[in-house]
Amino acid sequence: MRTPIIAGNWKMNKNIKESLELVNGIKENNLAKDVEKVICVPFTDLKDVKAAIKDTDIKLGAQNMHFEESGAYTGEISPLMLKEIGVDYVIIGHSERRQYFNETDETVNKKMKTAIKHSIKPILCVGETLEQRESNKEKEIVKTQIEGAFKDIKVEDVENVVVAYEPIWAIGTGKTASSNDAEDMISFIRETLNSLYGDVSENIRIQYGGSVKPANVKELMAKKEIDGALVGGASLKAGDFTKLVNF
Ligand code: PEP
Repeated sequence: MRTPIIAGNWKMNKNIKESLELVNGIKENNLAKDVEKVICVPFTDLKDVKAAIKDTDIKLGAQNMHFEESGAYTGEISPLMLKEIGVDYVIIGHSERRQYFNETDETVNKKMKTAIKHSIKPILCVGETLEQRESNKEKEIVKTQIEGAFKDIKVEDVENVVVAYEPIWAIGTGKTASSNDAEDMISFIRETLNSLYGDVSENIRIQYGGSVKPANVKELMAKKEIDGALVGGASLKAGDFTKLVNF
């Protein structure tokens, strides 16, 4: 039985004051206990948000990290720095990082290994562009991303990884993949994981992401293979995030 997981990705939104207003708004609401809740906040908010959620079951996530522990990497954040704050999850390979910051399957793989080494759970993002889908290459692309990300990662470590299938054309655009298309790709991702890790793949949670909102979350979560959602825009309002968690 896979525990559903709803994760908010705040992206580059909310200063410290605003982040605390949002967290306090979320905390005032009744959130489903049997759903894992994660908020992935900007680096500058992590410490204050960690303190604000300390008496709750809300988990804290970062949106990126470097694969080295320390060194001459100006502007980067180390896994040890995240660990010190008590970060539970880290988003790895978000399409915006692949697109704007040259993240590759190779750096994604290095980050996966570092996160696992430091017991920070990766939320690994994969997904195709519109052009790739229109030329029927979406499965080939996603398979390459999955195989690249999991390269040399041991079977005993994979149950802590969450995969987020995020078709790039659905992120922040208001266009959602149909629940059937999302389910089809997520089943394919599980088959790919099965070919790498066998039955353990049944325990890996796979989220859908791309314009998930209160109005469509129920239909998506009703699908057998969809274990959760990674949500950008709709995670920025306490009421909407609560509705997503309580799908
Ligand atoms: C995301 O940030 O990963 C995302 C899916 O964004 P949105 O929900 O806004 O499409």
